Amino acid sequence: MLDWQNIDTVMLDMDGTLLDLHFDTYYWLHHLPQRYADIKGVSLTQAKDVIYPKLTAQKGTLNWYCLDYWQQEFDIDIVALKKEIDHKVQLLPGTEDFLNWLTTTNKRIFLVTNAHSGSLAVKQPHARLERWLHGIYLSHDYGYAKEEQGFWAALQEDIGYDAERSLMVDDNLQVLGAAQESGIGHLLAVSEPDSQRPAQHTGDFNSVAHLGLAIPATETSIW
Ligand SMILES: [Mg+2]
Repeated sequence: MLDWQNIDTVMLDMDGTLLDLHFDTYYWLHHLPQRYADIKGVSLTQAKDVIYPKLTAQKGTLNWYCLDYWQQEFDIDIVALKKEIDHKVQLLPGTEDFLNWLTTTNKRIFLVTNAHSGSLAVKQPHARLERWLHGIYLSHDYGYAKEEQGFWAALQEDIGYDAERSLMVDDNLQVLGAAQESGIGHLLAVSEPDSQRPAQHTGDFNSVAHLGLAIPATETSIW
């Protein structure tokens, strides 16, 4: 399905692409409201009434991914609360096989994420993604989310990729749309980003349930 011979740079999203999005959905929808209620001495319903509308209002913006923003907005230690559930950080099925295979090719492999550095700090000790990567690029460092064209211009300047020979893999279809608009030639969606939720529709984008299924068949048959 992917034209691997014509791809020399691979850009990978983190949450919902390499890592199970369950950590994040559980954190924002359950853990944070529960701990907010404990800390502020309000009911769980009151906590959700404070948290959910604010989250919804920022979706797709850099603020939505910014732990400093939420720390200020909710007056709560967002990173400390993430650490309370860091045992839930895990690779999606197929991630390890895919990255092991990818490193046997001569392709450049970059993590390209909207995740905040505080979130990366919680996840990295468990995920240890740097084992497979040639670089990690955070949209916060550019001041643009991956959904924005400014992000792709800044990334291009940093790593000098040949857009037509580059692949972006993401579970966020808005991000794939932005990557496509910026000229990235190869796009792949992940249709099962969260192990605890049903698969998502991926529209017109090529998709795999998990990255293990993106390894070329000629490679898997060797094993
Ligand atoms: Mg994602």
